[in-house]
Amino acid sequence: MAKQTKDSQVHCSFCGSGKQESLMLVAGIDAHICDKCIAQASGILEEELRSKRNKSLGDIQLTRPVEIKKHLDQYVVGQDDAKRTLAVAVYNHYKRLSQKVSSDDEIEIEKSNMIMVGETGTGKTLLAKTIAKILNVPFCICDATVLTEAGYVGEDVESILTRLLQAADYDVAAAERGIVYIDEVDKIARKSDNPSITRDVSGEGVQQALLKILEGTVVNVPPQGGRKHPDQKMIPINTSNILFICGGAFDGIEKKIARRMKTQAIGYSMERNREEIDHNNLLKYVTPQDLKSFGLIPELIGRLPVITYLNPLDRETLLLILTEPKNSLIKQYRKLFEYEEIRLDFDEEVTAFIVDKAMEYKLGARGLRSICEAIMLDAMFELPSRKDVRELVITLDYAKEKFSKSEIKKLKVA
Ligand code: ADP
Repeated sequence: MAKQTKDSQVHCSFCGSGKQESLMLVAGIDAHICDKCIAQASGILEEELRSKRNKSLGDIQLTRPVEIKKHLDQYVVGQDDAKRTLAVAVYNHYKRLSQKVSSDDEIEIEKSNMIMVGETGTGKTLLAKTIAKILNVPFCICDATVLTEAGYVGEDVESILTRLLQAADYDVAAAERGIVYIDEVDKIARKSDNPSITRDVSGEGVQQALLKILEGTVVNVPPQGGRKHPDQKMIPINTSNILFICGGAFDGIEKKIARRMKTQAIGYSMERNREEIDHNNLLKYVTPQDLKSFGLIPELIGRLPVITYLNPLDRETLLLILTEPKNSLIKQYRKLFEYEEIRLDFDEEVTAFIVDKAMEYKLGARGLRSICEAIMLDAMFELPSRKDVRELVITLDYAKEKFSKSEIKKLKVA
C-alpha cells in the first residue's frame, strides 16, 4: 500500500523514507519505492539468480557433440575438423565433470585440454568464445606473451585465473568450471629444441609455470590481479575442472611437419600415402612431436592431449564469413542502420570487392572489418542527422570511392 500521510507526502512503501530522504521515489499502482530499496531488491534478486545458476552448473546440461557442432556452425564458417574435435573434447570434459560426483569405479576420465594450431585470424578465439557461450560457462582470453615466471616483470600465470574469476563475477564455483583460452602459446616456445642451460625467462619458464595450472591443482589467486595490491586476500581456486584451450599460429611449423613426414614416408616407403598428402595444408598432419620440435616442452604438450588445426581462409570462406554467420559483419551493419530506420543493402559486387581487398592486402578475416569500416564510415557519420534518407544501397562505385579515400591502403602488406 502506498503510504500517503495526511499532509499528502509520499513515502516509500518498503522503508517509509519520504521524498526528502531519497533520491527518487518510483510510483506503482498503489505504492512507491525509493532508490535505496530498488538497489537492495536488485541485490537480493542477483544473489538468488546466482545461486540458481550455481545449482544448474552442478548438473551441467550435457549437449551432445553433434548439437555443439550445429551451434558452432551458426557462428563459425568452415573449420569442420576443429569444430568436431572441439565438440568432442568439450562434451567429454563436461561428461567427466558430471560423472565425478557419482562415479565410484576407478576409471578416471582425464581432462581434455586442447591446443589449436592455425594461422592468425582463422577463428581460433572465435571457436573458444562461441563454445563458452553455448555452454553458458565463464570464459576468458589471455595472451601467453604477457606472462612471465613469478618474480619477473609481466603478469604471473595466476593472473589468468584472476581474469576467469572476474568473468565469473567472483563466483568461485562457476569459475572452477569455466573455459580459458590462452592465445599465442607458440610465442612462449623455447628457441631451440634442446633444453636450455641458461634460464629462458620468456619462454620455457612460462611453460613450466603454466603446467601447474593446466593440471588440476589449487592455486591461490589474487582477486584484483597483479602485484599492485599486495595485501589483497587470496582466493583458492581448484583448476582441475577448468578447461584450457591453447591456440597459436606456430609460424613455420609446416617445415617441421614436412620434414617429419618425409622421413617417415621414406622409412616406411609409403609411396601411396605421400601422393595423398595435401601439401597446401600441412597443418592438418600436426602431431605432438611437431609441437615439441617447435619448442613446446613435452610436459606441457602432455597436458594438452587434444590437438587440432584450422584451415587457412580462402576467398570463398571469407565471402561466407562476411555474409553467413548469425552475427556476420553485413548483418551487423544492417542492424546498426535499422536503429536509424534506414534500410541498408549491399550490391553483390561489393561483398566480392571487400573480400578481394582483404585477400590482396593479406588482412584475413580481421581485415574484413577494417575494410567495411572504411567504406561505411561516411554514411555512419552523416545519415543519423539526415531524416530524409530511408534507404541506402552500397554500390561498387561507392565502395571503391570510399575505400580509395581511406587510410587503410597504408596497411598493405608488401
Ligand atoms: P584467431 O584467434 O585465429 O587469430 P579470431 O578467432 O580472433 O582469430 O578471428 C578474428 C575474426 O575473424 C573473428 O572475430 C571473426 O569475425 C573472423 N573469423 C575468423 N575466422 C572465422 C570463421 N571461420 N568464421 C567466422 N568468422 C571468422
